[in-house]
Amino acid sequence: MEELTITPADVKKQKPAPEVLGFGKYFTDHMFLMDYTRGRGWHDPRIVPYGPIALDPSAVVFHYAQEVFEGMKAYRTVSGEIRLFRPMDNFRRLNDSCDRLCIPRLREADLVEYLKELIRVEADWVPAREGTSLYIRPFIIATEAALGVHASATYLLSIILSPVGSYYPEGINPVKIYVEDQDVRAVRGGTGYVKCGGNYAASLRAGERAEASGYTQVLWLDGVHRRYVEEVGSMNVLFKIDGRIITPALTGSVLPGITRRSCLDLLRDWGYTVEERALAAEELFQAAEEGKLEEAWGSGTAAVISPIGEMQWGERHAVINRGKIGDLTQKLYDTLTGIQWGREPDPYGWTVRV
Ligand SMILES: *Cc1c(COP(=O)(O)O)cnc(C)c1O
Repeated sequence: MEELTITPADVKKQKPAPEVLGFGKYFTDHMFLMDYTRGRGWHDPRIVPYGPIALDPSAVVFHYAQEVFEGMKAYRTVSGEIRLFRPMDNFRRLNDSCDRLCIPRLREADLVEYLKELIRVEADWVPAREGTSLYIRPFIIATEAALGVHASATYLLSIILSPVGSYYPEGINPVKIYVEDQDVRAVRGGTGYVKCGGNYAASLRAGERAEASGYTQVLWLDGVHRRYVEEVGSMNVLFKIDGRIITPALTGSVLPGITRRSCLDLLRDWGYTVEERALAAEELFQAAEEGKLEEAWGSGTAAVISPIGEMQWGERHAVINRGKIGDLTQKLYDTLTGIQWGREPDPYGWTVRV
């Protein structure tokens, strides 16, 4: 592992008050950078003052979107220490994303160590108020100055940090979603199973239309049959139908969420039958109409768990659990956040001390 260098910032920013944090609005004093050069590999890991990145206007990322990213969090536990949640899983997934976009892989264990070092430098930025955390955004961009369509010969990896507020300052309110029947997010063979900026660019229009019609998010259907449920917004989606847990299988167009996997691990341990399989919108709405759709929720790092209270599909409308958060959804939220913030023991060894 190459030793990293640290260049301290001359001027430190004023830290925002915990109640104004929101999501991704404030950034810490430093960032992590590392370069890749063909023939030399990844090199020069360094912590430098946070600031703009200069790139040639012809850099590959601007034209062909060769970019991948991750999203994770550091938590200030009740005892005051700082913990990460399953960080190796995030860097493993970053490498899967790299493979798909022809970006050279990184050493996952080294990245965890560099990240810990960065967070130690920024320890004062990890907020302590209930529900707050330090959001971590690693990303890689293709930097070669060349317009020919090819994988870049040079890359920049960066990790930036943002203190974020409680996702639910007014308590957890279930969201209203509608089934998107025009745009699709991903198809098997495409990039749906990796975290790349291009997926998000292509999903913005559906999100805007949903908001304009009074919904929080869209429920994505598969791109081939336009029948099977895949994700909700940029979260995985899980359902409790007639006592069983059903979630779309990871068949190549669904992002393998770490929160999703953690939910499934907990649910299996609690004795639930978990089915990872194709779930048609027809089956889902029929279950709702028969009173068998008991709970529905999205899962992802930012919100952890986001209950779904209402769904619209064309003319069909479903209200889930009278629009209130379900008992199991609440228990998952309490257990996961309990482990993350150190209020509960961590029998799975998911958290890592910084
Ligand atoms: C990041 C992401 C998720 C959730 O993944 P987590 O690891 O749980 O944060 C789900 N769907 C999409 C499309 C995503 O980009």
